[in-house]
Amino acid sequence: MIRKVVIIGSGPSALTAAIYAGRANLNPLVFTGFLSGGIEGGQLMTTTDVENYPGFADGIQGPELVAQMRKQAKRFGSDFISEDVIKIQTDQQPFTIKSSKSEIKSFSIIIATGANAKRLNIPGTGDSEFWQKGVTACAICDGASPIFRNKPLLVVGGGDSACEEAIFLTKFASKVYIVHRREEFRASKIMQDRVRRHPNIELILNHTLDRVEGKEFVNKVYVKNIVSGKITQIDVNGVFFAIGHTPNTSFIDSGIELDDDGYIKVHPNSTTTSVNGVFAAGDVVDKKYRQAVTAAGYGCMAALDVEKWLAQKDAIHEQRVESKQS
Ligand code: FAD
Repeated sequence: MIRKVVIIGSGPSALTAAIYAGRANLNPLVFTGFLSGGIEGGQLMTTTDVENYPGFADGIQGPELVAQMRKQAKRFGSDFISEDVIKIQTDQQPFTIKSSKSEIKSFSIIIATGANAKRLNIPGTGDSEFWQKGVTACAICDGASPIFRNKPLLVVGGGDSACEEAIFLTKFASKVYIVHRREEFRASKIMQDRVRRHPNIELILNHTLDRVEGKEFVNKVYVKNIVSGKITQIDVNGVFFAIGHTPNTSFIDSGIELDDDGYIKVHPNSTTTSVNGVFAAGDVVDKKYRQAVTAAGYGCMAALDVEKWLAQKDAIHEQRVESKQS
């Protein structure tokens, strides 16, 4: 059997694509991922309260939001395989999608495999320690949380995102520290100037984060001067990693064009990629907005693009058959 569409991923982007494709009677097959590229269900599985997804006035837990999306996708006829895709071949139609146990043929593919926020392996920041108890990797998502309001916070990083996140956090925090391991920032000059001039931001350069401590939630960190080795305690109630993301694109074949950072390139206002019939959606494409609602929007676009593409393909095929017969 050749599928009409295979969707790779199980975050808001993939599941929204599955809902739309299912409602268009395309009976999508979703490879949810299992071990590689994060966890089944995507980045929202690693967070607690999602306060900014429209429709949930009182907020919703990340895993619950994903579970509801998945239920909705199933209701409209999506099939799921809990495996990682290890390879796709897109040089001939139908395409081939391979996982460790399955090999599937499909006319179209939606890649919605996300990008993982990088974290550092620092004592106190692990999943069973203070991760999501004051340690996070998304200032826009978590910055407004009550646990961070009017509290001193610390951002780790030295690029544009670290500067942007620090400035964003000043809306809520009593003070924001930026810890960066070098003397110089990688950020653009304009962003550097903004953080240097900001009265509520203090730069701690030439330092690394050594460890994070607290009781129920984070209440202090220790930073290490990389020149002298001296360790200093700073009282903060939040630690935000802003050290970049890794897009999950290692399994795709060379025909699909990526940008210099490994994100899939799509045509403007579209989810079409450099390969006809392959579409991409969500954080694997988008390094600017990175939100559940934008990922879901991309997923919707991808399913609509696939539906149109399949209809055009069928129309061309019918025309060819008719002209052969006449
Ligand atoms: P993801 O959610 O990353 O999903 C990608 C999926 O692809 C995963 O299921 C993964 O298993 C799968 N996958 C990867 N590789 C493969 C493969 N080879 N084969 C098969 N499957 C594969 N956004 C908000 O709007 N509000 C918030 O409050 C919020 N909080 C956040 C808190 C944290 C700690 C983090 C890290 C992010 C948060 N975000 C939040 C951002 C949001 O989670 C992402 O923008 C969103 O999940 C991106 O959706 P996606 O579907 O593109 O990718």
